[in-house]
This record gives sequence, C-alpha cells and structure tokens, in this order.
Amino acid sequence: MEAMGWGRYPKTTADLIQPADSQALQKFISSQKKSASCIGRGSGRSYGDSALSEQLVSSRFLDSFLELDEQKKTLRCGAGVKLGDILKVCIPRRLFLPVLPGTKAVSVGGAIAADVHGKNHHLDGSFSNYVKSISLVLASGELVTCSAQENAELFRATCGGMGLTGVIVEANLSLVSIPSSYISQRSLVANNLAECFEHIEDNASSKYSVAWLDCLATGENLGRSVLYLGEHAPSKSRKTDTLYRERSGLGVPFSTPSFLLNKTTMSLFNASYFKLQKRKKSSATLDCDSYFFPLDSISNWNRLYGSNGFLQYQFVIPSDSALEGITTVLEKVSEKGKGSFLTVLKKFGEANENLLSFPKAGYTLTLDFKNEPALFSLLDELDQIVLAHDGRLYLAKDARMSEEVFKASYPNWESFMAIKNKYDPSNRFASLQSNRLGLTQ
Ligand SMILES: Cc1cc2nc3c(=O)[nH]c(=O)nc-3n(C[C@H](O)[C@H](O)[C@H](O)COP(=O)(O)OP(=O)(O)OC[C@H]3O[C@@H](n4cnc5c(N)ncnc54)[C@H](O)[C@@H]3O)c2cc1C
Repeated sequence: MEAMGWGRYPKTTADLIQPADSQALQKFISSQKKSASCIGRGSGRSYGDSALSEQLVSSRFLDSFLELDEQKKTLRCGAGVKLGDILKVCIPRRLFLPVLPGTKAVSVGGAIAADVHGKNHHLDGSFSNYVKSISLVLASGELVTCSAQENAELFRATCGGMGLTGVIVEANLSLVSIPSSYISQRSLVANNLAECFEHIEDNASSKYSVAWLDCLATGENLGRSVLYLGEHAPSKSRKTDTLYRERSGLGVPFSTPSFLLNKTTMSLFNASYFKLQKRKKSSATLDCDSYFFPLDSISNWNRLYGSNGFLQYQFVIPSDSALEGITTVLEKVSEKGKGSFLTVLKKFGEANENLLSFPKAGYTLTLDFKNEPALFSLLDELDQIVLAHDGRLYLAKDARMSEEVFKASYPNWESFMAIKNKYDPSNRFASLQSNRLGLTQ
C-alpha cells in the first residue's frame, strides 16, 4: 500500500500488518525474517516519516477499554484507542486526560511514542508524565511491562522514542477530575511578538495557553498575535455540563490545487483573521472540542496543500533567547517570501527524564509550509538559527532534519542508542526517519 504521514510527504510503499491482539503481534514479530524492518503505527497523525517503514504494525485492533477505575482515576486501555474515544467515556464521569495534543484522532500508542504535549505543558508537562505503565512487544517477541519503577530505562527510552524500542500494546493512564466539559476562554491581542511574550508570561498561571501568530506581518507588527487562555469552566447544571459535544465538520474530499495556497491568499487569511479576533469578545465559554481541537472540524484539511503535501516545522528555544531566536526565524521566513498558514506559539515547562522527548523549558513555535522546491534550503537555514539558540526540532513533525542537526540538539541520543541496542540489536524496529537520523541502519 501507499503510506504517508499527515503532511503527505514523503510517501512510500509498505506492508500493513494489523494484529488482532498482543499474541498475534508477538507471533508476527517472532516469526518474521530479521532483515525486514517494521514500526508501530497509530492514527498516522505524525507529519513526516516517523511512522513509515517496510512493514507498518497498526494498533487499529488494539483498541479495547480494559479497566476504568473512577476512584483511583486510572484507565487501562489498548494502544490503538484514540484520545477522542477516551474523552467520550471520561467526560460524562467528570474525568479528563491531563494532556491533549491538537487533534483527538491521536492513538494512545502514538501519544506515548511521541510524548505529546498540549496547551498546558508550562504547568503540567507532557503525556507520558501521566503514564503509569505500558506493555510493549520487543524485537525478541517478548511482551514486557515497564514504568518509571519497573524496567525504567526501557520506559524512558520508549516514551518519546518514536516506536524504536518495540510496539506498545497497552497503557495504564492517570486521569484528572474536571468540574464540567466546558472551557472558559479569554483572548488577548498582542501587536507584536514582544507583547505576545509579555502576555504569556503575565498569564503563566493560566491552565491552558496558546497564541496564534500572523506569520506574514512584518516590521513593527512582526509576531502580532492573539493569545488564547483557558480554564476548566465551573459546573452550572449537573445535567448538561458533562455532555461531550463531539464536533465533526466538513471534509476536504480531494487534494486541492496547490496554487490556491500562495502568499497572497495566506496573507489575506492571516490579516483578516487577526482583524476579526481583535473585534471579537475577549471572553467566551467553549465546548471541549472547539477549544482543544479546532482543526478537527475540517477533516482531511491536510489535502488543502495539494498533492505534494506540506511540512510542519516545530522547534523549541530556551526562554533566555526565545524572543530573539523566534524573531530571527520569522524574519528569515519573510525574507525568503514564504508564509505559514497556521503559526502557533506555546510556552514549555521543564523537560522530563525521557531520552528523546522534545519539550524543554522555553518557547515552541510551529509553522506549516507547502512542499515546494525552495523550501528545503530555507528549512536548513532555520535549523541553524534554532541550533545557534540551543533549540531543537520535534521528531513527530519532522520529515527532513539531518543526522547532524538531530545529534547536536538531542544530547541523550547516545544513551538512547545504548538501550535500543540492548533490546533491538538487529534494528528490527526502524523508520525512514530513524534511518535518516542515524539511529538505525
Ligand atoms: C492537527 C494536528 C495537531 C497536532 N497537535 C499536536 C500537539 O498539540 N502536540 C503534540 O505533541 N503533537 C501534536 N500533533 C502530532 C501528534 O500528536 C503526534 O504525531 C502523535 O504521535 C500522532 O499519534 P498517532 O497515533 O497518529 O501516531 P502515528 O503518527 O501513527 O505514529 C507516530 C509515532 O508513534 C509511533 N507509534 C504509534 N503507535 C505506536 C505503538 N502502538 N507502539 C509504538 N510506537 C507507536 C510511530 O512509530 C511513530 O514514530 C498534532 C498532529 C496533528 C495532525
């Protein structure tokens, strides 16, 4: 089959393996010839090539809810369960996932493997901070359990390890209580990047915080933005405030011609969105889907970038030089005549102990670029700006980073390799990304 990530670049052909349960998966891993490489695959919401290999081991049928303990606030479920399905079960019980990425389509296995972050990393850290234990099938075919206490080195390499230590089949997750299914949102307009940073810092105690930037504004307006702050709204009516109103909206049925997304249309969109938000009321109560997953309201929106797809570029820069580094990146993008349709800024808290997790204290910026020939040299230049500010790129979004850039910015890569070699000496688990980054092959 033809396989790709959410960015629709790169594309490859792969065999799709869909084990019905962990025993079938163990049998598959033990019986296969050692030369074929495989990688775990969840919902395919990573953008680049981290979930691409010769064989894709799908968690699609590992999708059972195994145990929900409402008193202890824990959920044990299969790795193929989607975060949106967990919310459907948990919200009516006033329970919630402590960390949510920007789409509810992500699987539990994919959330652990990329150690995903949400709009509350500055306070609550990333997804795996709330993973009590996981079971995974190793290259030997053995099924093992690991946690921060048991097989801790394997746990630290698997959370954020992009599927390279084995296939996660099950996880035991911690949940948190919420008063209602609604979010009280406050928005603040910033006329430039420095003002946006000030707003974020002044509101650092807000539970959720994310800024949308007009990437095409330049000069004194560079970085003009709207910061969205959120808190779980108090309960108003016990009958209705735990209803989960799932939003699913329009779809994009086929790839649109890529010329539709050009600098002029993006500029128009960004400028009008900014003006509209400036006029809108600065506080509102939103349902969970509208606040956390606005992009999910257009399914297959990734087709809007045309058949060559797009690349998402997400990096983090430590707080000390984040304003300077991000300003330089935005100036470079503008100087090269490029624009990003969606540009998002978030604050990160401290890094955790996982060896390849992306977040570290600082600011993270995400930009989307249509895939076109001149893009790759621009992204190479952006890499150098990020490295010069002691930053790094997010593996779940990456489709083209060089081995040198990766190794210079992920200081624990050698410790990761020691564990990888211990559990998977013949690189049974490898992706196009891990080959490119010099972690396998
Ligand atoms: C609209 C959108 C918004 C997003 N917003 C955010 C965000 O706010 N924060 C954030 O952190 N990320 C965000 N992401 C990225 C996404 O959360 C991650 O890429 C996540 O890993 C995708 O999970 P998946 O189930 O689709 O996994 P896939 O894309 O299929 O795989 C991703 C990685 O996980 C591994 N993997 C998947 N399942 C398993 C398994 N069972 N065992 C072992 N390894 C496995 C794969 O090998 C691969 O390396 C967003 C993506 C989209 C499309």
